[in-house]
Amino acid sequence: MRRVASSFLVAALALTGPAWAQAKKTGSKTVEAPIPAWLVPYRPVAERILATTRDAGGNFAWDRLAFMTDTFGPRLSGSANLDATLRWAEAEMKKDGLENVRLEPVMVPQWIRGDESLEILEPFPNKVPILGLGGSVSTRAEGVVGELMIVKSFDELTARKDEARGRIVLFNVVYTNYGETVRYRGGGASAAARVGALAALVRAVGPPGMRTPHTGGMRYEEGIPKIPTAAIPTEDADRFERMAKRGQKITLRLRMDAHFLDDAPSANVVGEIRGTEKPDEIVLVGGHIDSWDPGTGAMDDGGGCVVTWEALRLLKTLGLKPKRTIRVVLFTNEENGGAGGNGYRDAHKAELEKHVLALESDSGVFRPRGFGFTGSDAARKTLTEIASLLKPLGADAIAAQGGGADIGPAVAAGKIPSASLEVEGSKYFLLHHTPADTVDKLDPKDLADNAAAIAFLAYVVADLPAPLPRP
Ligand SMILES: [Zn+2]
Repeated sequence: MRRVASSFLVAALALTGPAWAQAKKTGSKTVEAPIPAWLVPYRPVAERILATTRDAGGNFAWDRLAFMTDTFGPRLSGSANLDATLRWAEAEMKKDGLENVRLEPVMVPQWIRGDESLEILEPFPNKVPILGLGGSVSTRAEGVVGELMIVKSFDELTARKDEARGRIVLFNVVYTNYGETVRYRGGGASAAARVGALAALVRAVGPPGMRTPHTGGMRYEEGIPKIPTAAIPTEDADRFERMAKRGQKITLRLRMDAHFLDDAPSANVVGEIRGTEKPDEIVLVGGHIDSWDPGTGAMDDGGGCVVTWEALRLLKTLGLKPKRTIRVVLFTNEENGGAGGNGYRDAHKAELEKHVLALESDSGVFRPRGFGFTGSDAARKTLTEIASLLKPLGADAIAAQGGGADIGPAVAAGKIPSASLEVEGSKYFLLHHTPADTVDKLDPKDLADNAAAIAFLAYVVADLPAPLPRP
């Protein structure tokens, strides 16, 4: 087992290493910007980890993600697909030689989509593609029939509330960014029900694509009737808008069989590289292994699981053993409940204060940019210095905020410094929660580079003389 030996030896090696780190132009000369002395021993570690992205092994993460998503398909909470994926991941982590590999049981909600359809009845019968929103109730067997009412905002619905009774309301809100437009997916149904609508449709939360609706979670407000709700493609939202402008009356029939079954057993998959000196102190990395049902959840978030897992496999392969434990967690049920993140917090309550850093990858695994970070200024400075050695991957930026839905409960309860993998984001919300979220959208090189970046960051943070300073 090779291990970074004495820092003296490593520092000597560093001096002979390639000068790719932080080359900076001054006038006509190129000089190497200094890195802090404490980081010098880690330069050859970075070189060894980054070298793994260039050999044939650089395809390992993509191949693993392709196997997983090709074989098991979508992984909705409670599904046999997800259960089989959990058992497969556990077995694969053991094959990788990770330590303390286990399934940590969590109960998850079980929402079933069932058959669903949206038909235009008038002006002329034809069907429109839809995806029911996760958590929606069903319609009656014969469906819900109503005249379409289109609004552009909650305010417009309120202003025109007298027109909404007995209608099917469409929130045709053009995608700007996720935070702004996802409010209509989450809260549209109850807003429409409050003014007497029969059902709510939302324009897909994403830029125009290939006439694909986007599913996603929704929630009902207490004390308001639960009405069925679904997303339609941006193209059909624009089409309805054109028809309405022409003065055409649009009557629709929505049919949905969506329903909940009893909560089902599921699990978070956990594996570790145990620390050599402070094994009870933990650097946590991970993503969520569940997905929505239309695609195969390759980008959201199979990729996040595989690159964080791959970071541990790389360290294991290279024989790099840090002082602290690095733990990968593949969380269950991020998409429709958050039971995996809550379950982790509860199961690990006693050791949350020993978590040095929690990092989540759930924004896709495209070209790496670096990491988002939320924590103390001193910790941010340390991470910025570490990431400077990831410049060859383009992964050296530290953004203002970091975190994730799965690590969120543990981070809040344990006041853990939190980070997220940051990547090029132009395609993410085009594919997000659609049938097009498949592995072919992802580049093997990007996965390898992301895994290497996470491996190096996690290794150094786990190997620091003192834990990352907390605020
Ligand atoms: Zn996700």
